[in-house]
Amino acid sequence: MTHEIAVIPGDGIGQEVTPAAVDVLEAIAVDFEFVEGEAGDAVKAETGEALPRETREIAADADATLFGAAGETAADVILPLRQVVDSFANVRPAVSYPGLDAVQPDTDLVFIRENTEGVYKGIESEISDGVTTCTRVITEDASEKIADFGFDYARNNDYDDVTIAHKANVMRETDGLFLDTAEAVAEERSVPRTDERASGDTASEGIAYDTALMDALAMHLVMHPEDYGVVICPNLAGDMLSDLAAGLVGGLGLLPSANVGEDNALFEPVHGSAPDIAGEGVANPAAMILSAAMLLDHLGYEDEGDRVRTAVEATLEDGPKTPDLGGSASTEAVTEAVVDRL
Ligand code: ATP
Repeated sequence: MTHEIAVIPGDGIGQEVTPAAVDVLEAIAVDFEFVEGEAGDAVKAETGEALPRETREIAADADATLFGAAGETAADVILPLRQVVDSFANVRPAVSYPGLDAVQPDTDLVFIRENTEGVYKGIESEISDGVTTCTRVITEDASEKIADFGFDYARNNDYDDVTIAHKANVMRETDGLFLDTAEAVAEERSVPRTDERASGDTASEGIAYDTALMDALAMHLVMHPEDYGVVICPNLAGDMLSDLAAGLVGGLGLLPSANVGEDNALFEPVHGSAPDIAGEGVANPAAMILSAAMLLDHLGYEDEGDRVRTAVEATLEDGPKTPDLGGSASTEAVTEAVVDRL
């Protein structure tokens, strides 16, 4: 069966790492048909629109989308694209790999980030000169859906530890609802964690869960990432905590992500367009290639996804490596090494 894959490289290093992921998917020899769409700063400069209707349609009609990065126009591109694929969950694994000089070499975390609301709903206004507001939207439906997804993810991916991140002591209404709703799901689907976080023990059976204030969680993640598995977060917290975790495992060049909807999904690296290195051909393609591996999993090709992850892991360990990981190899050389290993 042929799967149609929308490919939207976007801006900056998106133009460099997206072809790398396509090369890898072609090497895997699954029957994919790639349909390319334009989006981002360059197409806005040309046409006045950062996300042309044709590109939206390509993503809507495809079985899955690979997206690179957008620059200045990111909010006009990726937020609507996530809506096009109706994605409610943003899955962001942060894993440390052997052979890399990671700040925390025992990290194996997955952030499950609510992807539709919070402050990213985009309801902002200037109510008078020098005074602005942002409306934070949290609903019971979306909170329940993301918590359920998080527990499904933990079960299907052998994580026995779920943490619900919140700031309900300050945002009493919005995060109060997020926390109460997620905890109700957690109580049905796991055993509450009663041990001390510092002890590193988990409950003896099933998935253990606890809740954590997101600011304290940031500190604990830096010091003891090994204590955590799946972390369910409201939208902005998930964005920030996953970038923090990128720093623990070796940088943004390593973190893939999936935006998952009921019937469609979009896969993109956590990093942005990296204007500081764009055009130099030295962007680390690992995050984008690992995003392609998540795409393979999503379409039911888990063995192929595992093969890609194994090839990327071996390349990260033995090289060649891009400059962000202390090497001097180009994006193309690293991609070729991954393809050769496949
Ligand atoms: P955005 O606002 O779109 O996220 P940004 O420039 O603020 O863009 P990133 O594009 O994610 O953020 O880049 C942050 C830093 O990480 C930059 O120094 C960039 O060079 C580095 N970086 C990001 N992705 C990669 C990559 N794939 N390979 C090497 N370095 C990267």
